[in-house]
Amino acid sequence: MAREGFKIAVLPGDGIGPEVVSACLEVLDAVRDAVGGVSLEYDSLEAGAALYTLTGESLPVETLRRAGEADAVLLGAMGMPDIRYPDGTEIAPQLDLRERFELFAGVRPVKTFAGLPLPLADPRAAEIDFVIVRESTEGLFAARGRTVREGDRAVRDTMVITREASERLFHYAFRLARRRKEQGRPGTVTLVDKANVLGAFAFFRGIFDECARQYPDVEAQRSYVDATGLNFVKKPWDFDVLVTENMFGDILSDVAAGLVGGMGLAPSGDIGEEHAVFQPCHGSAPDIAGLGHANPVATLLSGAMMLEWLGERHDSPACDLGARLLRAAVGRAFAEGELVPFELGGDAGTEAITRRVLECVRSPETRREVEISKGSR
Ligand code: ATP
Repeated sequence: MAREGFKIAVLPGDGIGPEVVSACLEVLDAVRDAVGGVSLEYDSLEAGAALYTLTGESLPVETLRRAGEADAVLLGAMGMPDIRYPDGTEIAPQLDLRERFELFAGVRPVKTFAGLPLPLADPRAAEIDFVIVRESTEGLFAARGRTVREGDRAVRDTMVITREASERLFHYAFRLARRRKEQGRPGTVTLVDKANVLGAFAFFRGIFDECARQYPDVEAQRSYVDATGLNFVKKPWDFDVLVTENMFGDILSDVAAGLVGGMGLAPSGDIGEEHAVFQPCHGSAPDIAGLGHANPVATLLSGAMMLEWLGERHDSPACDLGARLLRAAVGRAFAEGELVPFELGGDAGTEAITRRVLECVRSPETRREVEISKGSR
C-alpha cells in the first residue's frame, strides 16, 4: 500500500559529515515542499570518532536501535585518521551498520555532470555513466577485527566469500542492468575479480556464471581487477554495471569518483533486504573540515537515491518525483558552467552549491524538465 510519511535516521558523523548532511536536509525539505504529499521526519543520532573520544563508544546501542526502526538512514561521514581503536584501525561505524543490517549491495553510481570540467581529456569522458555494485558485508573486509597475529613476525587477514551473499549481490546487479537497459543503457554486468590467482575469486566467478544464465537479456562480462583499473583510465565510458568484492569495490569507487571530478560528486546507497543506508562515498575529509569547502553534491545525490529507494519500496509516487527533481536540480545547478566546486579548482563551497541547488529545486523549469523526462520514459 502507498505510504507518504517516512522517518529518516540521520547520522552526521565526523569532519565534513555534519556540513554536508545539514545541506542535504535543507535541500530535502525544499524537495518535499516542491513535490507535496510526502512528509520526512528526521531522527538525529550520534555515532563516530568524536563520540568515541568522548564516551568510548562509536556506535551506541540506542543509535543502532533507532536506525533499525527508521525507514532509511542518511549518513554523513565517519572516522578521523588520528582517532583509532586499540588495534590501530579507524573508527568506522558505517562498516558496522553494513554488517549489522546486512546491507549486501553498495551501490555507487558514477556519472559526469554537464558544465563541470572533466579530469580525462578524451571528449567521450562526458558520456561516463556506470554503477559499481560493491559487496559490502564480507570479502576481505570480513577480516576486520579478526586479524590473526603471530607475534611481530606475521599477520593474516582472511577473505570470506559466501554463496548466499554472492548470489544476492549478483541478482541485484543483473536486475539493475536490466532496469538500466530499459532506460537506454547497454545492459551489461561486468564482474571484477582476480579469479586467475585466488581460489576465493574462482568460487565467486562460478556463482556469477550460474546467476548470469538466468538473465539472457543482460550481457555478462568478466574482468580482472588490474585490467579494470587500466580500462577505468582508457575507456570508462564503456562500462555499465560493475559488480565486485568489498575491498576491490572500495578502491575502484574512489578511482571512479576521480574520473568524474572528485569525492564530493560520488553518492552511494548500501542496500539490504530490509534496511538501507545512504551516504556520500567520501570520508570525513579532515583536511577541509570547517572551511566550508566541502562539496555537498555526493550527499545530495545520496538523498535522491534514498527517495528513489523509499518510492520503490513503499509505492510512493511523491518520493519518486522528489528523487527525479533533486537529480535534475543538481544537474541544472552546474549546467551553465559557472558553479565550479573547490575540489575541481573553482571557488564554490558548501554554501554556494547548496543555494544554487535550492534555487533549481524551486524553479519551474526544473519541474518542467522532470515532467517531460517522465513522459518520455
Ligand atoms: P575514507 O577512507 O574514510 O573513505 P578517504 O581516506 O577516502 O576516507 P576522504 O575523506 O574521502 O578520504 O578524502 C579524500 C580526499 O577527497 C581529501 O583530499 C578530501 O579533502 C577530498 N574530499 C572528500 N570529500 C570531499 C567533498 N565532499 N568535497 C570536496 N573534497 C572532498
